[in-house]
Amino acid sequence: MKQTNNYRFFTWAKNLDCTAACYYQPETEEEIIELVKKNESIRVVGTGHSWSGICINTTALVNLDHYNKVLQLNKEKQQVTVQPGIKLWQLNDYLAKEGFALANLGSIDEQSLAGVISTATHGSGIQFQVLASQVEELSIIKPNGDKWLLHRERDKDVFNLAIVGLGCLGIISEVTLNIVPAYQLHDQTTVEKFDEVIDKLDEYVNGTDHFKLWWFPHIDEVVVYRYTRTNAPRNDWRIRQWLMDEFLSVNVYRLLLAIGNINRNWRKVINRLLVQKFMQPLDRIEQSHKVFVVPKPPLHRETEWGFDIAVSKQLLREYKQMINASSHRINFIQEIRFSKADSFALSPCYERNTIWLGAYNADNHGWNELLNDFEVLAKEYNGRPHWGKEFNIDKTYLKAQYPMLTSFNNLRQQVDPTGKFANHYINQIFS
Ligand SMILES: Cc1cc2nc3c(=O)[nH]c(=O)nc-3n(C[C@H](O)[C@H](O)[C@H](O)COP(=O)(O)OP(=O)(O)OC[C@H]3O[C@@H](n4cnc5c(N)ncnc54)[C@H](O)[C@@H]3O)c2cc1C
Repeated sequence: MKQTNNYRFFTWAKNLDCTAACYYQPETEEEIIELVKKNESIRVVGTGHSWSGICINTTALVNLDHYNKVLQLNKEKQQVTVQPGIKLWQLNDYLAKEGFALANLGSIDEQSLAGVISTATHGSGIQFQVLASQVEELSIIKPNGDKWLLHRERDKDVFNLAIVGLGCLGIISEVTLNIVPAYQLHDQTTVEKFDEVIDKLDEYVNGTDHFKLWWFPHIDEVVVYRYTRTNAPRNDWRIRQWLMDEFLSVNVYRLLLAIGNINRNWRKVINRLLVQKFMQPLDRIEQSHKVFVVPKPPLHRETEWGFDIAVSKQLLREYKQMINASSHRINFIQEIRFSKADSFALSPCYERNTIWLGAYNADNHGWNELLNDFEVLAKEYNGRPHWGKEFNIDKTYLKAQYPMLTSFNNLRQQVDPTGKFANHYINQIFS
């Protein structure tokens, strides 16, 4: 097993870092069990794509990049069993070659599967739950080194408690996922008036398989993404994808960000230019994972909260008003997505159909003020924060919003009585 001492870890966004005394990269389950037994304080890090302090640890950090194999594909049952260090892009490529796909995805594919499951990572589509809902069975190496097998039906109650585990119940060591036959998405992307979209929001949300909005603040337009599942053949061009998605949108956007950093008041004009000139209407059919995954974003800050879908229109109108009336100057999308209710104790979609509202900005300057203002509104609307993104931890508030938080904590204390898998972030939430 590869071991590095005094390993410097940075989150993807470089907003947090730590030096771990030991950084382990096991290649077998036996090695995982061995290191769980011998260390008194451990956190696992997937790809470090969380903004929150969820991975930070100064003793032992474990990374499963070398524990990422596909173990079995059962075509009849439409299930795949993998080692959980596998990245989503590796899994997507493998499944596509075999004629299968994941039923839903978020906006990027760099994360590890276990990281995605542990934080209730989600995509968009009101008929689709968070990505962890695709898990049929998983095994966790508990803090005492025992292997714990959890099946979604056979062990329903514990499975629902443990699945979104924030990395504090042990190390996920194997995952079986339900998969679907490969499919295409018909991507219809348009630019519309924010207020008009809000007026017909229900129609859009309920009438589209995967619907999401990107709002660049300070302007009246919003980018509307409608993805419909289809078996019709692909008609997108690789050259268009390279030119528009990989080259122009990435490089022009970075240039405009740099210009907007010279004078933050120019951002309104820049956002308008971006949306009107570079967010061209699209009508294309492409493999599902290639549509779900967006062009590589620049480093930025994110907070994202889930709300009861019933408050959608009021929430979005109020958020727009708040931003427009404020002195915040935002150079990045605000993202609006939807997920179906689930039964996972720590999922922000626990027992409620959810609208997600994400405040993002590619600027550290003024970020804390934006985060604070966002949180005032989010709390007014009983929002639940995404565990992998930034939020100020308020234990009492979280307990009120996550009705199963205490049950999860009881399980955590039972499985990990010495707090081997706790860190500052976990202690702030639970202790
Ligand atoms: C550019 C970008 C885009 C994003 N897009 C989306 C999106 O579309 N939708 C969304 O919901 N989120 C999104 N996120 C957030 C991201 O999906 C989550 O934060 C996710 O957890 C990151 O995966 P990771 O592998 O990097 O996990 P990490 O951030 O490294 O870890 C997250 C948690 O998983 C735990 N963990 C990892 N592996 C294991 C294991 N084997 N056993 C037990 N616990 C484990 C860690 O301990 C930690 O608690 C995005 C993040 C970035 C940076």
